[in-house]
Amino acid sequence: MSRAYNFSPGPAMLPEPVLRQAQATMLEFGSCGASILEISHRGPDFIAVAQQAEADLRTLLAIPDDYAVIFTAGGATTVQALLPLNFAVAGQACDYVVSGHWGKTALKQAAHCVDARIAASSEAGGFRDVPARAHWRLTPGAAYVHLTANETIHGVEWRDIPEAGTAPLIADFSSSIASEPLDVARFGAIYAGAQKNLGPVGISVLIVRRDLLEREGQPRAPIFDYAAQARAESMLNTPPSWNWYVLGLTVKWMLDEGGVAEFARRNARKAALLYAAIDGSGGYYRNEVAAGARSRMNVPFFLHDPALDKLFLDEAKQAGLVALKGHRVLGGMRASLYNAMPEAGVQALVDFMREFQQAHG
Ligand code: PMP
Repeated sequence: MSRAYNFSPGPAMLPEPVLRQAQATMLEFGSCGASILEISHRGPDFIAVAQQAEADLRTLLAIPDDYAVIFTAGGATTVQALLPLNFAVAGQACDYVVSGHWGKTALKQAAHCVDARIAASSEAGGFRDVPARAHWRLTPGAAYVHLTANETIHGVEWRDIPEAGTAPLIADFSSSIASEPLDVARFGAIYAGAQKNLGPVGISVLIVRRDLLEREGQPRAPIFDYAAQARAESMLNTPPSWNWYVLGLTVKWMLDEGGVAEFARRNARKAALLYAAIDGSGGYYRNEVAAGARSRMNVPFFLHDPALDKLFLDEAKQAGLVALKGHRVLGGMRASLYNAMPEAGVQALVDFMREFQQAHG
């Protein structure tokens, strides 16, 4: 079997040691006499897995004790829908700073139960930049300010997340969590679907300051109550136990590799290599994002002639480079460079891009 370099935006490439470990324990987990897929989430074997994953995530991200960590099914979109139900009262203003597709999604998920306002947006410029802090129009008394740390489709990342004022800042870190050191204490809450940097799809993480869990929120089913979820250690119902387990393996792998500071260095080198190849191609390839907002995780780029797109993708695949097709919203190409993507993978991509240009220039 030969595994390609997989540039998928998510579900994304996982570290090979994690996959091998998951494979080994799929059939029989420890001394359980059963697969981890087959054991109770309330038994001691799984409880140990769950607690270790949380402890390791707390270490990896330096999560302060006054923050709860909630593991939840339903994807980041479900978190987006539950934020206003848990942290705002009906009809209350909630400010959304929109720098791409996923910021718009978050706003849409909230709009049915709160006064979700666009505090700032870079849509008029085609989401090629983040909206500068000077142009934010925050609402006094808003329940929170929401932004997307890294826009997975548009390839736009906040390099320095601004202060939001008095309302707690809630940030969608789905596609950049654990890619560099993060000061959790600056945020009211951080959330992420796991399927990019934290592990497999099917589980999301919400890191939330405990005082926000005391907010009354709005009428909601008990299962959608984050305070209750935190009290029950994310086990109000059967959690996605396999996904939680593989997330734990992935977090452990990141710690073993040197933690977020090490990944920040690797990610900076990977992104610099690819952007240099694009910018140095004399216009054959182009990335349209403003220099100060270019994502280190997701790099959208276009060929000078879109008629070559299919050939590029076919030949890339033959060269062992897969999932480079851009999102339908933008077209073109996109390379996602999450923590599991080795530097050799990015080197292989830029080598391929140079050869493709030479052959089809
Ligand atoms: N936010 C961001 C930044 C994303 O990239 C995605 C998915 N790609 C989502 C939210 C939605 O996540 P999910 O599919 O897990 O609901």
